[in-house]
Amino acid sequence: MRFRRKIFERKILAARIIVASAGYRRKGFIAKQVLKISQSDYDALRQHGEETYPHECCGVLLGNFVDENAKTVSRIARCANTREDSPHNRYHIDPKELIRIQREGRERGEDIVGFYHSHPDHPARWSTTDLAEAHWFGCSYVITSVEKGKAMISNSFALVGLEERDKEFMDEPLQISI
Ligand SMILES: [Zn+2]
Repeated sequence: MRFRRKIFERKILAARIIVASAGYRRKGFIAKQVLKISQSDYDALRQHGEETYPHECCGVLLGNFVDENAKTVSRIARCANTREDSPHNRYHIDPKELIRIQREGRERGEDIVGFYHSHPDHPARWSTTDLAEAHWFGCSYVITSVEKGKAMISNSFALVGLEERDKEFMDEPLQISI
């Protein structure tokens, strides 16, 4: 029940973001979504992508929703990429592992605020598969390009929309703090 309420709250948040973003677009501004992350967590998720190269890495971003414009990451949780058929350009997190991470996060007062993965030798832009497989409305999806084993660019995208059929990714600046 609590889990369902959380999903509902995230959907409300994602809806507010899309409404805010439409307003900004009308006024000629870009919606100011931001994902705040510490330098050490940022470095760690990028390093994870270098370690698993040429395969994709993946993991969870834990933290808090500050308001409809900002999320703060307070911890990252590494996950194993369970895609054995195509790990160089696909990732999958075992749902059991995800539930464990979520439970342990709650015990510390943290929510799942996003996910991260790497794109070995591909740009740090979301793919149609990434969008199709993203279901956590209001959450951030951070993608790092890893070229020849070296982490290059990391970008964040917020999943906005009300339902599966109108969901979209919105560019979201990463605000890195020490
Ligand atoms: Zn991807």
